[in-house]
Amino acid sequence: MSVQVSRRAAALAFLTVTAAAAAPTGLSSFFADAVFARGERSTVIGHRVPYGLLDDLARRADRAALRVGAVLGTPVRPLVVVPASDAEAASLARTGAVDGLAALADRGRVIVVPTTFATLSPTGRDVVLTHELTHVAAGTGRAPLWLREGLADYVAYRDAGLPVPVAAAELAAEVRAGRVPRVLPGPEAFAPGGPRLAQAYQESWLACRMIAAEFGEERLVRLYRDALEGDTDLSPFGDVTTRWRAYLREQLEGGAG
Ligand SMILES: [Zn+2]
Repeated sequence: MSVQVSRRAAALAFLTVTAAAAAPTGLSSFFADAVFARGERSTVIGHRVPYGLLDDLARRADRAALRVGAVLGTPVRPLVVVPASDAEAASLARTGAVDGLAALADRGRVIVVPTTFATLSPTGRDVVLTHELTHVAAGTGRAPLWLREGLADYVAYRDAGLPVPVAAAELAAEVRAGRVPRVLPGPEAFAPGGPRLAQAYQESWLACRMIAAEFGEERLVRLYRDALEGDTDLSPFGDVTTRWRAYLREQLEGGAG
């Protein structure tokens, strides 16, 4: 993989994706010191970031693109932005807030939140990049939150090599203690700082994982594409809630961990 560094190219690539948006504050400072690395499929733009980190991210983004593309059935060409600080990440993000996030999907690109991202293991970095890239590539439309997050984690963990009870440790602890959730998580379960936020993601992931295991990945992706248009019809899958609760026990109860 070749890594190229060019401020002008970085500025052009950045402008391409922000053309429709109002210029965030601090953008001129971003341009003044921006550098960029290109992988086989990915482009990574950094601001006051070591080249080694950009190179590493380009390789990871290439890998993530293959993983996302394999599930969605479409080519994926990631654009990853690595700001100089968490404050700069917040200023570039449409939401204006990045608290607790390691990265986020934002207007066709993945923005890395440098301080939190740096605390992740190599596997954790791949999982986070793949999760956010799934959001970028699949879109969110009118899909319910559990399906958005469930699909993103389904793709993120599909090839991560982590045992299910390890990746879903918080939920596994509850299930082993006899507390099996009764319903799929609603939007309130995903509120930032919520008491069972990790479990909400894990419940969603395992619902999508179960659908893919029983009906095939293509069927899961088709469900998602319909949900984008506002049609989230689970009836073709039978009694999803009952089977999902049994699946949680089967996957998490005995497990390693
Ligand atoms: Zn997400």
